[in-house]
Amino acid sequence: MEKNYDIIIIGAGLSGLSSAHFLNKMSPGLNVLLLEKTGRPGGAVQSFKKDGFLAELGPHGFLDNAPASREILEDTGLDKEAQQAPLGDFHRYVCHQGKLVQLPQKPLKILTTPLLSFSAKLRLLADFWIKPVEENQTIGQWAGRRFGKSILPLVDAAVTGSFSGDYTKLSIDAVMPGARRLEKEHGSLLRALIRKAKKKSDGPKNKLPAMKNFPQGLERLVDALVQGKEIELRTAVTRIVRKDGMWEVETEKGTVSGKELVLALPVNEALKLLSPLDTPPVSSVPVSRIVNVVLGFSNKARIPYGFGYLAPECEKRFTLGAMFSSQMFPNRAPGDNVLLEALVGGRRHPERLELGDEEIIERVCQDISQLMDLPEKPIFAQVLRPKSGIPQLEMDHPALLHWRFGVEQKMPGLYICGFGWDGIGINDMTKSAKRVAEDIVAGKRGDTPEAPVKPVYF
Ligand SMILES: Cc1cc2nc3c(=O)[nH]c(=O)nc-3n(C[C@H](O)[C@H](O)[C@H](O)COP(=O)(O)OP(=O)(O)OC[C@H]3O[C@@H](n4cnc5c(N)ncnc54)[C@H](O)[C@@H]3O)c2cc1C
Repeated sequence: MEKNYDIIIIGAGLSGLSSAHFLNKMSPGLNVLLLEKTGRPGGAVQSFKKDGFLAELGPHGFLDNAPASREILEDTGLDKEAQQAPLGDFHRYVCHQGKLVQLPQKPLKILTTPLLSFSAKLRLLADFWIKPVEENQTIGQWAGRRFGKSILPLVDAAVTGSFSGDYTKLSIDAVMPGARRLEKEHGSLLRALIRKAKKKSDGPKNKLPAMKNFPQGLERLVDALVQGKEIELRTAVTRIVRKDGMWEVETEKGTVSGKELVLALPVNEALKLLSPLDTPPVSSVPVSRIVNVVLGFSNKARIPYGFGYLAPECEKRFTLGAMFSSQMFPNRAPGDNVLLEALVGGRRHPERLELGDEEIIERVCQDISQLMDLPEKPIFAQVLRPKSGIPQLEMDHPALLHWRFGVEQKMPGLYICGFGWDGIGINDMTKSAKRVAEDIVAGKRGDTPEAPVKPVYF
């Protein structure tokens, strides 16, 4: 580690590594240092291999509909290695009245789904006449008002699948700013989506995106991104100070200086470093934690064809949902065995994470065997306990983003991205990382980008 750098990036998770990747690409001469607290890069991304099974502690893939992530795949050559599971080819299920029911894959299929009654389907159309409200609401309040209360279990399932969150707490303005923008511009979300679809119908047909991962697991992405980077591991940053036109970064191993400083950290870690410089509106954001129960079954298990299922809270089940991993990606289970990854805990049930591994496995097996045909006990079972939690973008989040904007304006050379600021998915991280790199290279702050509309969250 030298004393002075052009750019110091704190955090070598996907945000930090992607920022460094885009900086190196846009301006190859820059002297960039990444500082990482732990002994390994990658942060929340961590693959797990045992007895021929391949699972993930963190993300299980990302959709290929985000330009910054696609660019990284092409730049690193990983586009040639990546496995893909197209959304159009796989079913997704929701637990509804104790059974797995397929989610409608296309908008018109909503008309025939048994997930909503006839009156509930009619109620969806009220969205055309309901005026948007200005104030921030929870996702539950917003969706219930626009589309009726019957839609809430489906909203719950979607929020569980992305945030492991609570739709009565998450903020619509923070989680779906793009949908809110459309709603306000067109007076109705359905009207906006129909107009958008009409405009698009002249151009090339939009295929549903595909989920990407790699034969070695998602850690392959980290392995590719660390190449050619200067990363100082086991180096926790304890304080940042602006001095004589430079950023002084204090670590357990000494102080380094950078002309520009990128905080590529989960929001709560960033707040610890930023709070001494400016008081944030909240001291921390809530985090949702889960455990991943990795279950291998013989080929006698009859698992429905698809990505997996999600269970809304009203179904009162122990398991939040499960991914049918070996159907999504080949080579996740040895031979013709199958791999299922079940999620437990989340924002509403942190107490379940306190249970021992054996009890968790037993309760998950009991739960899922009521939903699918599992004639035999698992041949492999392991509880994975990810260290990272998922930051929840709840009602205070818009104020926190407004505060971050002010801090970046006031403090030259400081850039803030990372887990739980502009979103929580990998595609959100790569997009913010690219924006930070562009701003640094251009020597200016970019405008706040227009909020994207995300049809499928990840
Ligand atoms: C259980 C789980 C499941 C997920 N599933 C999906 C999914 O299926 N699809 C998807 O798109 N996304 C998913 N995500 C989200 C995805 O993992 C994140 O978007 C992404 O990994 C965040 O990257 P990051 O670099 O911003 O943060 P992190 O991965 O948290 O990396 C931050 C790094 O900063 C380091 N650090 C922290 N403090 C300091 C300090 N003071 N000094 C130096 N270093 C520090 C940490 O050690 C860490 O390595 C999931 C996340 C979790 C936790």
